[in-house]
Amino acid sequence: MTGNKSSAHPDFDIIVIGGGHAGIEAALAAARMGCRTAMITMSKAAIGRMSCNPAVGGLAKGQLVKEIDALGGEIGYATDLAGIQFRMLNKSKGPAVQSRRAQCDRALYSQVMIDTICGQNDLQVIEEEVVDLMVEDSSCCGVITKQCERISARAVIITSGTFLNGLVHIGLEHFPAGRINEAPAVGLSQKLREMGIQSGRLKTGTPPRLDGLTIDFTKCEIQPGDEPPPYFSNRSDHARRLQQSVCYLTYTNESTHQVIRDNLSQSPLYSGIIKGIGPRYCPSIEDKVVRFADKLRHQLFLEPEGLNTSEYYLNGFSSSLPAEIQLAALRTIPALAKVEMARPGYAIEYDFFPPHQLFVSLESKVISNLYFAGQVNGTSGYEEAAAQGLMAGINAALNIRGEEQFRLLRSEAYISVLLDDLVTKSTTEPYRMFTSRAEYRLSLRDDNAEERLTEKGNKLGLVARTVYDDFQKRQNDKEQILEALRQNKISIRMDENDGRSKQNISAYEALRNPAFLYMEYDIYRNLIVKFGEPIFVMILNEIRYEGYIFRQDKRIERLKKLENFMIPSKIEYDKLKGLKKEAIQKLTMFRPETLGQASRISGVSPGDISVLMVYLHRI
Ligand code: FAD
Repeated sequence: MTGNKSSAHPDFDIIVIGGGHAGIEAALAAARMGCRTAMITMSKAAIGRMSCNPAVGGLAKGQLVKEIDALGGEIGYATDLAGIQFRMLNKSKGPAVQSRRAQCDRALYSQVMIDTICGQNDLQVIEEEVVDLMVEDSSCCGVITKQCERISARAVIITSGTFLNGLVHIGLEHFPAGRINEAPAVGLSQKLREMGIQSGRLKTGTPPRLDGLTIDFTKCEIQPGDEPPPYFSNRSDHARRLQQSVCYLTYTNESTHQVIRDNLSQSPLYSGIIKGIGPRYCPSIEDKVVRFADKLRHQLFLEPEGLNTSEYYLNGFSSSLPAEIQLAALRTIPALAKVEMARPGYAIEYDFFPPHQLFVSLESKVISNLYFAGQVNGTSGYEEAAAQGLMAGINAALNIRGEEQFRLLRSEAYISVLLDDLVTKSTTEPYRMFTSRAEYRLSLRDDNAEERLTEKGNKLGLVARTVYDDFQKRQNDKEQILEALRQNKISIRMDENDGRSKQNISAYEALRNPAFLYMEYDIYRNLIVKFGEPIFVMILNEIRYEGYIFRQDKRIERLKKLENFMIPSKIEYDKLKGLKKEAIQKLTMFRPETLGQASRISGVSPGDISVLMVYLHRI
């Protein structure tokens, strides 16, 4: 590195601190948009490392992955290449809550990401620790590394995950670490606090890894993958993919719970040593035993860590009890009576920065040209991190080009629900995505992510030419299917109990009835054979929910007015007559960018919004 260039000729356009799931998407997006980008990360070999479960997707998280993929991001494609089991969750429920989930080969996933990052034009990887930022006139213009090197850039994105002042707990012992066997990043969060950025402390945990050779799988239920595998990315249709593996299911029992109850005093959670707030929806086994004391058993999933390892991840048994207690509790389970642990579970506490201090572009409100993405914003999960990384990379690139930020509405993507929730609600506990957080989930389906977002990704320059061509071909196919459905009439029984009364209606109309058995008719079977099932299912969902989606769209149109109503950043809320005290406090703290954002801040009432609207109309 040459280092210390003047701000007119910085070393890089964009520096991304971190090579985790947020850092990867941020760096790739920036470089693909033509910015000279550096990824500075503490370990090159750990790029794309999965800190916890080697699994991607799941309820609502699967939608995030599909959206990232549609916009030109990488997580979905890498998962397809490294995936060893794929399933569609909630198949028996409505399409709005169905999501894909894949189990990955942990080592291969990381290798795929390393290869992608190292093969990307305009992207350089620097193995270093960032300890401070270069800031001039409240604007970030580079970073300072542990080796005292100054590397300048026009924008910096922090994606440091659980590493900032990370503290690992196993039983009553604790030691500094970014995650197990990796050093923490010390210094950067103190510098950020000195710059006026508030921080907090969160906690998360992971279960033990087990030696598969010591598990009695005959005492478990088998959980196979779906056939054909529901891959995430259309890009991977042309790639070589792995054979599917099986996962297993077993349960805790009263004896397991007793071992845990008897040793709660050795848990850092229950002895008060851990101060950070943990994820409520992903409790440790200690938490489950205490909080759900009436439950006789808890599900545990045994998931392979990869094809070339005998290690298993024990999903559902996150723990920070001492290693010997974890082992004793595990051995009360018949399938695990002789189990050996490859590694005990542990908890980690780390610094985060409450996200109300960010614009929805993920740029800091305190220091310009500085962006935050991923776990450092209080979220939990690879998918949430990747979504933020992508958006921070895109917005940093647009910012330095002097172009308008890339905004998505809550009605357009889960990605936007995530960012909007972060900046309008902030968070005091690890935030993860759920389908229930999206009020427009009927439109934000797994099956239509490509249609919602690929055009936008292409405009940003993130979608490869061949991928875009394939997308256009599918759009063309869709038109042909719709045309065929509208043109062709079929004869159907109007009443399933009365074989005589038949009616001729269009093949399109017939699909409105959820009970209609379309596979009994040639026209549908032929369309599926010719164009494929995924596109047919998307059209089917659109037709079945047309009425609801139409009503939803009308509501979205009305709300758009608020979303497009910008609020000047310098507004002094305490000078506005008519606003309630709580609204003044919250609006001053959150400084929303639009009336839409203001309306979602808790403590700001519709009355306060009317006052604001009247004022904004006047100025
Ligand atoms: P990370 O993946 O943590 O990556 C951070 C990157 O930043 C690393 O490459 C690191 O080297 C680099 N870095 C940090 N500081 C610096 C610096 N100063 N200079 C240079 N490089 C730096 N998620 C769930 O959804 N469910 C779970 O149950 C769950 N359990 C977890 C348990 C544990 C123990 C851990 C550690 C994480 C868990 N997670 C869980 C969270 C999941 O791993 C993260 O949400 C995800 O990895 C966050 O991605 P990220 O890119 O923000 O950060």
